[in-house]
Amino acid sequence: MSNVFGECSLCHGPLTPFGSLACAEGTICRNCVALLSPFLSKEEVAEMTLQQLNEHIEYRKANAEALKDLKVTRLIDGKYDLYCDEEKKHILFVKGRDPVKENADIIPLASVDRLQITKQYNKNDANYVDIFVKVYLHDFRFKCVQFMTNTFPKTDVNVEAYQQAMDLAYDYLNKIKDLVSI
Ligand SMILES: [Zn+2]
Repeated sequence: MSNVFGECSLCHGPLTPFGSLACAEGTICRNCVALLSPFLSKEEVAEMTLQQLNEHIEYRKANAEALKDLKVTRLIDGKYDLYCDEEKKHILFVKGRDPVKENADIIPLASVDRLQITKQYNKNDANYVDIFVKVYLHDFRFKCVQFMTNTFPKTDVNVEAYQQAMDLAYDYLNKIKDLVSI
């Protein structure tokens, strides 16, 4: 029986109404999306060919293997924890508590190009402002790794909560800068 939503261009499984993503040569299903790095943006996926997506999935498998050999310590405890393997000079941004389970992307400190903090209105509620840390990379996988560190009501821009939120974002920047210069 054919699926009303069509089939995944990558694994040829059925597409579902939610969780699929467009790529340059079709649409990929949510199971295939789950194999991609969470740091790939929708916009990046939309420009990728099936071959590039397959290569990315191969890279993710290699990353999962390489993670087993890392000795990481947690440097920042936040919405995304910052981990570092000081010997191999790699950093990880981990959303959950388990870098291996999550297959956190291994980012060589040598590939860090520049760092930035940005603020954007929350997509779901424009009364809130989200603070993002952006790590621009010279890297074959991503141009930029970005994650939200905090969100706060826009009416509170000048209060302590806002300052604390910005301080946390700067903690990431300063820690990464320290590691890069070691
Ligand atoms: Zn698929």
